[in-house]
Amino acid sequence: MKRFIRNLIKRTGYYFMPGTVYAVINGECNLRCSMCDIGKKNADSDFYRIMKGGEDRMTLDDFRRLAREIRGCDTFHIVGTEPLLHPDIREIIQAFSSEGIKVSLTTNGFLLPEKYPLIMGASRIYLSVDGLSEIHDRIRGVKGSFDKIVEGLTLVAGRRQERGEGPSIHLSITVTDENCASISLVVKYFTSLPVDGIHIEHLNFRTREMAELHNKCWPALSITESCIDPGMLDRIDTDALFTQLEQVKNLPGVEIHPPLSREQMESYYREPLKIVGNPVCDVPFEVTQILANGDVVPLTRCFDLRLGNVRSQNFRSIWNSRNYRKLRRLMFNRKYLPGCARCCGLSY
Ligand code: SF4
Ligand code: SF4
Repeated sequence: MKRFIRNLIKRTGYYFMPGTVYAVINGECNLRCSMCDIGKKNADSDFYRIMKGGEDRMTLDDFRRLAREIRGCDTFHIVGTEPLLHPDIREIIQAFSSEGIKVSLTTNGFLLPEKYPLIMGASRIYLSVDGLSEIHDRIRGVKGSFDKIVEGLTLVAGRRQERGEGPSIHLSITVTDENCASISLVVKYFTSLPVDGIHIEHLNFRTREMAELHNKCWPALSITESCIDPGMLDRIDTDALFTQLEQVKNLPGVEIHPPLSREQMESYYREPLKIVGNPVCDVPFEVTQILANGDVVPLTRCFDLRLGNVRSQNFRSIWNSRNYRKLRRLMFNRKYLPGCARCCGLSY
């Protein structure tokens, strides 16, 4: 019954407030990751444009006003570009947590040993890890980045134990061609450290062929290729990857997204035009994302669709605006579009 009513409401395009509001609070990063358009300075890609978020920046007052406007949402999740580079990170966390909203953040961890006292008001942190020392540093493009993560998380855990409060610590591991044959070693290494959860994400990407097919069908929602190197998909050894994931999938705290069978994993990396399984995109209903200049988009990996700006409009009016409702109706009827095939927004 509850599901029936929800679907009825979904059909109209109007929807309840999102559970999670994601935010990119700055457009800067201190690393040069090989699988990331920011790290590679690929300025033509959607991902780069969304993460950079234009020239203007939200002020601390803008964040405080936003926190009041989204009161009732469960989580404000700062996803980038690198939150620890923001000079007001402590105050931003405080603005949302004082409204009863949980704050989580994703960081590359490079500045964590130096800046961890500023983020102790968060409820959860996600550290991006790609491999053990040598592989991680090579993917991230900066020597010493792995050691900084280990040092930083140990300091956070120590402070949390001392004070009885502080963020839980989670790792995010993205599958790449460089780590596909050694992910189990990374997971096993970190399970001996004070880590509360390990999230393994299959690579999210858009190839040129995916973008071309999508743009032919949906020119009004055009996309670019993104987060992909020539030959990278072919270099992902799906046999080795499957074996690695089988070894860790049942360990406590380990989650793998999307959960793929052996055959599905082969299709996922070898046939990017093919939708794997029977996924649904609930992104326009469940979450939203604010960029550093206040623009609202569905999600980093989504279409570069600007739905409003929280510096000049009330968040609630954007959330149920005509364009947002139109997007919801489209996704309700179609579940996904060709450009969605390898997006982290799909639920399986
Ligand atoms: S740390 Fe994050 S934003 Fe920065 S280059 Fe790496 S993946 Fe991209
Ligand atoms: S699955 Fe499609 S609609 Fe959903 S967030 Fe990804 S690109 Fe956007």
